[in-house]
Amino acid sequence: MKVIKNAQEIQRFVLEQKAKGHKIGFVPTMGFLHEGHLSLMREAKRTTDINVVSVFVNPAQFGPNEDFETYPRDFEHDKQLVEAAGMDVLFYPSVEEIYSDQDLIQMTVTKRTNVLCGTSRPGHFDGVVTVLTKLFHLVQPSVAYFGMKDAQQVAVVQGLIDTLKFPIRIQRVQTVRESDGLAKSSRNVRLSTDERQEAPVIYQTLQWGRDLMKQEGLSMSEAEKRVREKLEASLKLGKVDYLTILSYPELEPKETSGEKILATAVFYKNVRLIDNIIISHQED
Ligand code: AMP
Repeated sequence: MKVIKNAQEIQRFVLEQKAKGHKIGFVPTMGFLHEGHLSLMREAKRTTDINVVSVFVNPAQFGPNEDFETYPRDFEHDKQLVEAAGMDVLFYPSVEEIYSDQDLIQMTVTKRTNVLCGTSRPGHFDGVVTVLTKLFHLVQPSVAYFGMKDAQQVAVVQGLIDTLKFPIRIQRVQTVRESDGLAKSSRNVRLSTDERQEAPVIYQTLQWGRDLMKQEGLSMSEAEKRVREKLEASLKLGKVDYLTILSYPELEPKETSGEKILATAVFYKNVRLIDNIIISHQED
């Protein structure tokens, strides 16, 4: 496996591969890799010829009071995992390689961001689309793999691809969970023992909500109220940031016969956890 830190070098590498007729798969990450990231890599290995994983903690998607400096990092361990997953390239640029004070374009997302994490994290998705636009130009993938744990991100990235007409297909990958249902996350290490014990109730409540919505045919807003009350009553240490039901991927509060998302974010002392369930009428 090649480790590439330089922008021109990764571009050269992918152009050579594409000239040989290879399709590039791309798994963008912020590192501190776990089973969730590995599941994206497995999917990439299964579906594309040459696979690139990036590890880049993107300062542009962190707010001024967020955890950019303290975001967990362990490059040597990440490298071992990416190599063991059979990836071809680990792209590991510095912040200076990606951003320059000469940059003169500011990207702003105008839809799908005034809800869910977009409300609590102003500017977050502007930072996400900015870095992904840069990375997509460097890596030029045919397919990019994203986890549904960050379902709003998937919705926004699909909008980025449609808006800028990137010739890239987004492949959604299901959320990988601990055996008790907690969604795997690099930030789970920040939970105290008691918080870690409580946290599986988040997914349990989302499952309860999904069943409620299927059985009782409630309106979205009634269902949302009942699921939020249930989650609030189940949490002793955590505090609900939001619990919302919307159409997916449009993320609008309108009734739909298509997919819906039931999504939540919960604050603990040193970490904010997110999780969601996509509800489609076709399933089970
Ligand atoms: P991150 O390193 O948190 O930016 O995540 C990189 C990619 O891995 C994103 O597409 C995430 O949605 C995905 N990811 C993170 N956690 C999980 C998980 N538990 N299951 C599936 N995908 C995940």
